[in-house]
Order: sequence, then C-alpha cells, then structure tokens
Amino acid sequence: MNAPSLTIASEKNSYPVFIQGGLRHECFSYIREALQKSVSSYMIMIDENVADLYLADLLASFPENIQPTVTKIASGEGSKSIEKFSQLLTEALEVPLDRQSVIIAVGGGVTGDLAGYVAASYMRGIRFIQMPTTLLAHDSSVGGKTGINHPLGKNLIGAFHAPSAVLYDSDMLRTLPETEWRSGFAEVVKHGFIKDTAFLEWLEKKVMSFSDIPSDILNEMLRRSIAVKAEIVQEDEKENGVRAFLNYGHTLGHALESELGYGKLTHGEAVAIGMAFAHKLSERVFHTTLPTKTHEIYMTKLGYQLSIPEGISAASLLQRMKLDKKAEHNRIRFVLLEEMGKPVLLPVEEQVVLDLLVSEGVN
Ligand code: NAD
Ligand code: MG
Repeated sequence: MNAPSLTIASEKNSYPVFIQGGLRHECFSYIREALQKSVSSYMIMIDENVADLYLADLLASFPENIQPTVTKIASGEGSKSIEKFSQLLTEALEVPLDRQSVIIAVGGGVTGDLAGYVAASYMRGIRFIQMPTTLLAHDSSVGGKTGINHPLGKNLIGAFHAPSAVLYDSDMLRTLPETEWRSGFAEVVKHGFIKDTAFLEWLEKKVMSFSDIPSDILNEMLRRSIAVKAEIVQEDEKENGVRAFLNYGHTLGHALESELGYGKLTHGEAVAIGMAFAHKLSERVFHTTLPTKTHEIYMTKLGYQLSIPEGISAASLLQRMKLDKKAEHNRIRFVLLEEMGKPVLLPVEEQVVLDLLVSEGVN
C-alpha cells in the first residue's frame, strides 16, 4: 500500500485521498486501513456501467468471509432522485446496515452524490468511502457535498457529509468516453485558472489529448487539481466565502445548461464556454489583458467549442444568470480574474454583461 497522495482536512476530521492506477485490486486493504474504527458490514453502491467493467475486481479484493452487499445505480442524472434515494434507504434497512456499516460509492458524481447522501441520512449518518471513476468526480468526491435533485431544481436536497477516504483508481478512467473526459477536464483547467497558474502551464505542456495521457501524468494531474479544490474547501467548508471561486465559469455555464436543457452540453463543456466568457468579462471590468487567446487555442485543440451556441437570446441568458445563487439585487455576481490565479467575486452591471454577450454575437 502506498501513502495517501493528499490528506484533506474537514471540519470534524481529516480524510486521505489515494490516487493510483490499479488501486481497485487492493481496495479492501485501503478501506480497512482508512477506517480506524471497527466495521460491521459493507455495502457497495455502484454505477451500472462501472459494475459491468469493474465490480468483479472490487469484490475479488474482499476476503471471502467479508463480502459486501452490492446495489447497482442506473447511469445518468435521473438517479439523483428522491425515489432512488428512498429505494436505497429501504435496501440498506433490509440488509440491514447498522451504525458501524460502511457504504462504498463507486462511480461518477451521480453515484457519489447519491450514495453519499444515503450515507449522510441513514441512521443520522454512517461512514462512506468515495471511489470516483470519472474525471469530473475528482471535483465531486472531495469537499463533502452530497445530495440529490428535486423536480424543481438540481442539487436542492442534500447534506455536508465528508467521506472517510477517497480511493481513486486512475486506470478506471481509461474506459471513459471522450465526452466525459472533456466534461471533467474543464474543472481541472478551472482549478489552474483560479489558484495555480504553474499547474495550468504544466497542463498545457503535458496534456495534449485525452486518449494517451501517461499514468504518471494523469496521477499528478488528479493530485494537483484535487489539491486546489481541497485548499479552497478547507478554508471555507460551508461555502461562505472563497468557495465561491470554484464557481468560476459556472454563472454562464449553468445558464447555458438550463437554457439548452440538461444533456445538450456536458457540464464541463458549458463551464468551458463560461470560463472563456469570464476571461473576457474580467478584461473589461479590470481594464486589463489576460492570456485569453492562449487558453482558447489550448481548449479548442482539446475539442472544446468556446462560443455561445446559436439560437440562445441574450435576454434569456441574463434572466437565467439573475437566478444564480450568487446574484444579488438584480446584479449578477461573477467570479472574475483580476489576474491569472487571482479570483474575485464581484457584482457586474447588467449592461456590461449584455454588451459582451452582444459582441460575442448573442442577440
Ligand atoms: P456521471 O456520474 O453521470 O458519470 C458519467 C457517465 O460515465 C455515466 O454514464 C457513467 O455510467 C459513466 N462512467 C462512469 N465511470 C466510468 C468509467 N470508469 N468507464 C466508463 N464509463 C463510466 O457524471 P459525472 O460527470 O461524473 O458527475 C456529474 C454529477 O456530479 C452531477 O450530478 C453533479 O451535480 C455532480 N457534482 C457534484 C459535486 C459535489 O461537490 N458534490 C461537484 C461537481 C459535480
Ligand atoms: Mg462544476
């Protein structure tokens, strides 16, 4: 067993993040090591696609007399529902899990958010392990936010519940479709933009496509990107201040996702457009020049489309952005870059946003 790649301090305790290719084959040893107190039983909650690929490997790492219960979660955002949440609680009660049981969430952000929320709620909270299997989940598996969607909006029901450990088998990312790489990689780049420009420069040298990232580069990329998120979350676990910086590119990104209907653009594709927009907005607001073009060229090479898709009106985007959690008194608050790596959260006059939308060809 290797040492943790990072340790994340949370309000009550701290938890290790292990990043390593092939870790799934040893996952039981890692879990046992991470859980200091005794465990009565284990329940694996796993994305169905991930189960087809990797469940046998996971189970093989458990001793014969400590086999976990397994439940599969249908792939897709639809699983983050009150119905599925309720069904998983019922399954846990039927096993039954007790206060010393541990839930192991294996999948992308959907599985992690859902299974994490089940763990947060079951008997007022039991321990859980995150095994992220998508690139985007490097973002969702740390920080302690868990939850589900409500018919009236995304992620409206949830709890802060930190995992006991995060086990990242980077080899499992190799089976991700290209669009999922692109979705997750936008958040990697975002972490560079807001906090670590050296990391950004490193990425631009080392990651030129998603299909052939060498393992050591991939592990290093995950570690550095998670480190930025961890640093911000540690400063502000319950989201009162600096955590808002993680929303860089998300004000317009979320507006695009909801305007187009979820699923037309992946989250990361929408955030990439949002970041390109926030770059230009930053230049206008601070009367400065950022290396916007360099980053646009880089992102475009990786297959991102950075212009705002056609057929969306400026008025509807503005309206959506005013609904953003960060908006206040009709002014939209954006995370902007004063310079690279230096984010600020600022209200921006509607007219300034509109002018930029228009100059970007949105009417
Ligand atoms: P996802 O969980 O839906 O996974 C994407 C797709 O990849 C699914 O079809 C899944 O079956 C498939 N898949 C997963 N791992 C695979 C693998 N190794 N090989 C092949 N296919 C695989 O999506 P996601 O992008 O990982 O997560 C999105 C969710 O994360 C959203 O619900 C979002 O709200 C949430 N999120 C939460 C936080 C947080 O802080 N809790 C942060 C960001 C996003
Ligand atoms: Mg995001």
